[in-house]
Amino acid sequence: MFLILFSLFLMSCSSTSKEEKINDFAIIIHGGAGTILKKNMTDEKEAAYKAKLEEAIKVGYNILKNGGTSTEAVLKTIQVMEESPLFNAGKGAVFTNAGTNELDASFMDGKTLNAGAVAGVKDVKSPIELAIKIMTDSEHVMLSGEGASAFAKEKGLEIVDPSYFYTENRYQSLQKIINQEKTQLDHDAKKASFYDPNIKDSKFGTVGCVALDKNGNIAAGTSTGGMTNKRWGRIGDAPIIGSGTYANNNTCGVSSTGWGEYFIRSQVAYDISAQMEYQKKSLKEATKDVIQNKLTKLGGTGGIVALDKNGNMSFEFNTEGMYRASMDEKGKLIIKIYKE
Ligand code: ASP
Repeated sequence: MFLILFSLFLMSCSSTSKEEKINDFAIIIHGGAGTILKKNMTDEKEAAYKAKLEEAIKVGYNILKNGGTSTEAVLKTIQVMEESPLFNAGKGAVFTNAGTNELDASFMDGKTLNAGAVAGVKDVKSPIELAIKIMTDSEHVMLSGEGASAFAKEKGLEIVDPSYFYTENRYQSLQKIINQEKTQLDHDAKKASFYDPNIKDSKFGTVGCVALDKNGNIAAGTSTGGMTNKRWGRIGDAPIIGSGTYANNNTCGVSSTGWGEYFIRSQVAYDISAQMEYQKKSLKEATKDVIQNKLTKLGGTGGIVALDKNGNMSFEFNTEGMYRASMDEKGKLIIKIYKE
């Protein structure tokens, strides 16, 4: 009898600890993963990244603290990063092989499982805003290219001249890769140069945000310029729901960054949610398995930020670094760049 009661007591302890609400509201962001090494970073650059991550996350945190929605928090937080030339999203987007900037973004609402995404737009100032508009104001989930721009215009979103996205730094990164390609005649080497995360300056830099609001609603969003030197209208994982972004109030929200082709093949963001739903894994267990085990085995590089319905948060990446930050309900701020 005693043994039965004791084991019942143990079972209730383990289930409450897994289900325990850690934060009433919380927010987590990334500014891209890649070969981010301390030795390649100046103090000024490091300080600039940290300051911008802090500015961005505090915008979202204050929205949540004042009772705002997770959707609003994700939008406004990502917009701070889109407007900064530091990140490969919006203003700081990388260049395609043709010397243009083609932007992708996606958003998902964990309450309704509704979603919006945009791929390959060249003149919309805030792709994350457009992704949310596609979700709320159209019957579609994903729009692309000129059609997406026409929709943005119709909805009164800010349109900019494509030159708005020009940054010298990113342009030089493209020139470097193009020059390397010219000297690598062998086809395989050429392929490698397109993707090689070790090529300095071809670092990723996508931005993403996941937020949980006081009403228990999770929202997730991701915005990117894709990969330097992309061509043929290449689209990565960032606008793919289930790969770059996923949110479900019953499980978690996820935003990804990294080598997009692998994230699409692995369905990274949805797989994390599915492992929690079907295998009853914790957020930590699910994110670790998907990034460190499944994605790594396939040869993919990158990482995610995620948070669950109880306000647990997780950073997980298999690269040298990932620009990242989180804030819990008490306002405790964590900002990190490198692996520890
Ligand atoms: N995942 C993005 C892409 O493949 C790139 C990145 O996250 O840096 O387009």
